[in-house]
Amino acid sequence: MAYNYDNQNIFAKILRGEIPNNTVYESEHALAFRDIQPQAPTHVLVIPKGPYVSFDHFAADATDAEIIGYIRAISEVCKAEGVTLTQGEGFRMISNAGAHGVQEVPHLHVHILGGRNMGRMIARAD
Ligand code: AMP
Repeated sequence: MAYNYDNQNIFAKILRGEIPNNTVYESEHALAFRDIQPQAPTHVLVIPKGPYVSFDHFAADATDAEIIGYIRAISEVCKAEGVTLTQGEGFRMISNAGAHGVQEVPHLHVHILGGRNMGRMIARAD
């Protein structure tokens, strides 16, 4: 079954400039902006500009240039936020996918969370 990208998702609207965002970094292949409901002092979402639902979709179908551009953008965001291991105390990167990943917005994004100790990786919800 093919991946099914919904052009009306909220991050697609942000990319089209239809709704505002608090941009941290932008390049040819990526956009990074602050999460509207931050869970940590640093909480930035990094998205590719192409129409990819999830990390597995992107990893399978994106061009090499898109993949390099996106991964480098994550580096730039970490540097700009001062959370790299060369500057700061580190960060957590999360990418939720699909129903079991409890993904709310169906456009690939990684959450960059930092500025405090993030605790154990997963707390069971059940
Ligand atoms: P996920 O569960 O990984 O899909 O998380 C989606 C994230 O997007 C949540 O942390 C939301 O707070 C965030 N979010 C939703 N709408 C916006 C928006 N318009 N601008 C910034 N962040 C948003």
